[in-house]
Amino acid sequence: MTQIAMVRTIKEIREIVQEWKGQKHRVALLPTMGALHEGHLSLVRLVQTCADKVIVSIFVNPRQFGPDEDWARYPHTLEADYQKCAEIGTDLVYCPDIAEMYGPQAATTVSVSGISQDLCGASRPGHFDGVATVVAKLLNQVQPHVAIFGEKDYQQLSVIKQMVGDLDIPVEVLSGPIQRDEHGLALSSRNSYLSAKELTTASQLNKILFDMARQLSYKPVAQCLENGQHRLQEAGFERIEYLTLRDAVSLQPVDQISGSARLLAAVHLGSTRLIDNVPVN
Ligand code: AMP
Repeated sequence: MTQIAMVRTIKEIREIVQEWKGQKHRVALLPTMGALHEGHLSLVRLVQTCADKVIVSIFVNPRQFGPDEDWARYPHTLEADYQKCAEIGTDLVYCPDIAEMYGPQAATTVSVSGISQDLCGASRPGHFDGVATVVAKLLNQVQPHVAIFGEKDYQQLSVIKQMVGDLDIPVEVLSGPIQRDEHGLALSSRNSYLSAKELTTASQLNKILFDMARQLSYKPVAQCLENGQHRLQEAGFERIEYLTLRDAVSLQPVDQISGSARLLAAVHLGSTRLIDNVPVN
């Protein structure tokens, strides 16, 4: 069994990264909440192509979960995650606990206005403040040359790019495409909450989005969005939180396609919330 370092303190991670930098290594960080799947591993592989040392952080960040959300039931699978990281050639797993991350009196929140407010931000108030705060802290703690995020959480990626630019954080932000299962369902740690019947419904989401993306090349945006809403309802999604076409960079609503756009959706199935997005060019 391959062994790699597992580090739990800021002091230790800083020492190791300093040493690597002294040896002229290019250091990458993939922030995760654990319960690792092929989506996460694809980002490790991608970033391995442009970094000498890859760190995966695992921290189920309580600050990005609302009071009624699933922090307590979020899967904790540290041993299995460690094995996956070791097998794929990650150099180090960084897993600070809550006390190490926030201490007894952390009072600072990083809030990215505008881009954090609507879409997922509208139904999950404070969520992106929690994400921005923990990512800013992880980037400060680890000080990598490059950090990688998935397009699965497209709005999160936009928020992080904005934050890194605004705060002059010296890190290159990379992103990787969404990894899907054999039915096209975007891989997510939360898919484990779905029953067999819900899984069948869930895998309609990507099909509807990809159909819509194709139709957008010859049908008006409003008509496509309306058809998409009907199809999602017919497929059995219980609540459609949003289905919207946005500019791929600003995330502003798009009612006519000119540049690069993104179709984004959030839907509910039972007690599970699913998000997905597809490019529209
Ligand atoms: P999480 O552990 O859910 O916080 O995700 C950690 C990182 O993995 C985030 O940047 C996610 O966007 C990314 N990620 C999660 N699922 C996927 C997926 N199916 N494909 C690509 N990236 C993903």
